[in-house]
Amino acid sequence: MRKGEAELYLRMYPALQRWLNQCVICQAQGYRPDMPAQIYPGGAAHNLRRLFRPLALDELQMCATCRAAFERT
Ligand SMILES: [Zn+2]
Repeated sequence: MRKGEAELYLRMYPALQRWLNQCVICQAQGYRPDMPAQIYPGGAAHNLRRLFRPLALDELQMCATCRAAFERT
């Protein structure tokens, strides 16, 4: 992830936070896999896909990596 650019973009469009997931353990940030192809403002979905990786969270708000580590302990 290009962090500076992503932070700047989210500061311009704070409403887009709702399309982002953040893991409670490792704090990794990514866009929700169920994000539609088009969201407001135009091009936002494209930009989020460019700036972030997809990040799916489980019911405990953990990413797959942390979930796997959690289940091994
Ligand atoms: Zn994680």
